Amino acid sequence: MVSQPGVMGRSTVAWRWDQGRFAFFQFDELRKIAKFAIQHDLKATARTPLVEATGLPFRPINDEYPPWRNYSRVFRTAMLVGNIDDKAAPTRVAHFLAQDGQVTSDEYFHFLAQAFTDPHPSFQEWASTTTPRYPLLFALKFLLARANAGAPVVTFPEIIGAYVESGFDGDEDQSSFIGLANRAWSRPLRRPRQGDPDRQARESIQVLSQITYLSATSSEVTVSLDRRDALDVFLSLAAIRGSETSDSEAEITRRASLFEGAVAGLELDYSKTVLDQALEAGFAEGTRVERTHVVLERNAAVRNAFFNAHPTANCDVCGRDTHQEYPWVDRVLDIHHVLPLCSGTRSSGEGTTLTDLVAVCPTCHRAVHRYYAKWMKERDRKDFHDGSEAREIYDAVKRSRGTP
Ligand SMILES: [Zn+2]
Ligand SMILES: [Zn+2]
Repeated sequence: MVSQPGVMGRSTVAWRWDQGRFAFFQFDELRKIAKFAIQHDLKATARTPLVEATGLPFRPINDEYPPWRNYSRVFRTAMLVGNIDDKAAPTRVAHFLAQDGQVTSDEYFHFLAQAFTDPHPSFQEWASTTTPRYPLLFALKFLLARANAGAPVVTFPEIIGAYVESGFDGDEDQSSFIGLANRAWSRPLRRPRQGDPDRQARESIQVLSQITYLSATSSEVTVSLDRRDALDVFLSLAAIRGSETSDSEAEITRRASLFEGAVAGLELDYSKTVLDQALEAGFAEGTRVERTHVVLERNAAVRNAFFNAHPTANCDVCGRDTHQEYPWVDRVLDIHHVLPLCSGTRSSGEGTTLTDLVAVCPTCHRAVHRYYAKWMKERDRKDFHDGSEAREIYDAVKRSRGTP
């Protein structure tokens, strides 16, 4: 760990994360790994079957070199397995993620925030005797407190600086966080060639920004949530505690076993903003999974980023030019997300990625959602299996459309 005695004491260091693993920490991909983990031993598997099951790279490309050597920290930080009796034992979280339509990206990442500690049992410096801090819980509550105060755009140096300087463990109450949210925070300027001591912390927040109401760039995170909903989510968050076991792998398993109870306590209905919109968007019931999809599609920061990058006025389904039809506006288009309904956006080192989004006119969007609902009902399904199935069905909608 980089530290300069007397200048950079231990307390100025941000938390650790498994750096440079964005491709693996995407919700849709973690679900594929979970599906594999409940049927095979991730610790013993060779590369080829894992790559075939997930489509992920798992480097180096060499079957003599088991993926576990380079990726065990991804699997354990994501709380999918614990290394028990020399096997990668799937956790309760893996079992839930493996089932289609059981867990939304929001439930998973809120749980991860509540369960991830500094240090984490997937890192060597963890010890059951250390009093843990919850940096991702802190980051999320800081963001929500700022959104509740009407300042929903927060930079990484503000979040990380507030964590380091406040000494909060992340489980403090509303009034404590209001106090923090109203103060100015920053990080010391980096010196050239010193490296970036905050990179791991920043990446972990970018991973967390797959939550549907968040959107990240390389420098900041935006919360797109009604102020009252931000408060409801804040108040439902609590650190995963209980007596820590002395073995790190058993501790990962223990925390993961608390998943259901923790998720049941979360207030992720977004009821102030979203139920009506889910129904309005063409879903028949406005279920938990459908609302997750709608929260993402109504995320103003994601929408703005998408149209800045793709300034189109044409519907991806029917091709109509909405600007030509209605010349007094730039466009009349919705954002549609082409991944399973339970998934959030993806994230990279640049922040939220927009590759799974398409622009559709409100009529086609409603028709797409009706098609999805019918397709799932006929198959007694709650969601798409993965991103490629979701893409396939979206393409089927485009092909099935009749000409007016
Ligand atoms: Zn259209
Ligand atoms: Zn949609």
